[in-house]
Amino acid sequence: MTKKLSEDTIAAISTPLGMGGIGVVRLSGPQAWEIAQRVFRPKKEPKNSFLSHRFYLGEVIHPADQKVIDEVLLVYMRHPHTYTREDVVEIQCHSGLLILREILEVVLQCGARLAEPGEFTKRAFLNGRIDLTQAEAVIDLINAKTRQALELANKQRSGKLAGQIQQFREELLELLTYVEASIDFPEEEIPEISSQELRQRLQNMSKQIQQLISSYEEGRIFREGISAVIVGKPNVGKSSLLNALLGEERAIVTSIPGTTRDVIEEFINVQGIPLKILDTAGLRHAQDIIEEEGVRRTKKCLQEADLIIWVLDGSAPASTEDFYILTAIQGKNIVIVINKNDLPQRLSLDLLGPELASSPIISISALYGHGLAELKEAIATTIIKNKLTNSAEVIISNLRHKNALVSAQEALNQAQEGLGKNLSYEFIALDLRQAIEALGEIIGATASEDVLERIFSRFCIGK
Ligand code: GDP
Repeated sequence: MTKKLSEDTIAAISTPLGMGGIGVVRLSGPQAWEIAQRVFRPKKEPKNSFLSHRFYLGEVIHPADQKVIDEVLLVYMRHPHTYTREDVVEIQCHSGLLILREILEVVLQCGARLAEPGEFTKRAFLNGRIDLTQAEAVIDLINAKTRQALELANKQRSGKLAGQIQQFREELLELLTYVEASIDFPEEEIPEISSQELRQRLQNMSKQIQQLISSYEEGRIFREGISAVIVGKPNVGKSSLLNALLGEERAIVTSIPGTTRDVIEEFINVQGIPLKILDTAGLRHAQDIIEEEGVRRTKKCLQEADLIIWVLDGSAPASTEDFYILTAIQGKNIVIVINKNDLPQRLSLDLLGPELASSPIISISALYGHGLAELKEAIATTIIKNKLTNSAEVIISNLRHKNALVSAQEALNQAQEGLGKNLSYEFIALDLRQAIEALGEIIGATASEDVLERIFSRFCIGK
């Protein structure tokens, strides 16, 4: 597909709006350099012409009255070796709200148009510098909350997934060419691929696609994180545990039962998994209206959570309140925490019953920070049951990719079935085309405008 470069030039503030050392206004498009020259006054005129990919010190001025807005460093990057494959200019100014806005304003007055969210990256995609999975990886990079999430995003950004999908598509295109030739020229000599070999190759590919699909759960967990709720009766040490995990005093810790009434949301890093942790009002028969509301919210959190961290007080015998909680959380993914192991232990674990036999039990002291590493380990293994080996080079983390892979696999399976039943090659060709189309959606070769719109609108302006 030949791609036509955009005719207009876009501009945006690419750094967060606020006070800081440096802010960047970025331009991309055919007039980027022309516009920059109208607003930029270099400190020293270059001997010949401005060179690409070099920084120049100077000032940004209002072209009408020559008034200076700021002292800046400007870099002009001539296409095609740029982020968008178009001419790009980046103006590094001091990061002040007014400065950034004024610089943006003057470049807009000189003919640039305000960029839409993600439009720079969209241009990089439309101009063929990156595929759709790489564009999506840019959002994941920006949103990454742990080093593992970052690593995952960087693998995708470097094109590992795209390469794998391309390989599948190319093989399918080759098989399709053969199948179509067999339909069109049944009498002629065509390179021989037996129906059995065809089926075998489709089966192999289907297996590889299955591996990618299976990697989604783990990929998603690292990319999006999971939500966990800390439950337990009042005073067992839920807030203390949350604080210990967070490493700082966030929730209100108090020894009056039932005072942590609000649902507090925090992210912690558990072996690379971003864990969105919800500290709740606790679960017990409410005594008043405020508490009733708290209990209602807790129950909602419990339903939605991927994981329950159930805290018990090891220094006291179990009570009816513990049983009350037990019934509310049964059937969920649970890690059992026996807290206060610095005190003499008086809790009998008989109450847990056979339903919880598979849940890990971790003894800790939230007060002294004992057992936290073991707890994190137990959380990670409870969440990721079938941990992938590190050798899995390509793993997927995006639901859009998973859905497309499932469609591709269904089409491949249908083709194999068809071959098994000796169906006409017309049908096999149809299935192969469907699989090629589904794979194409992943990398953006066949993605609709709607899909692109949905993806790029998730970006911030200036990226
Ligand atoms: P919550 O109501 O479940 O959130 O419990 P808190 O975190 O507010 O703790 C209740 C009381 O138990 C406080 O006085 C804490 O200092 C105390 N506590 C929490 N964890 C421990 C622990 O591991 N050991 C001991 N000895 N006391 C703890």
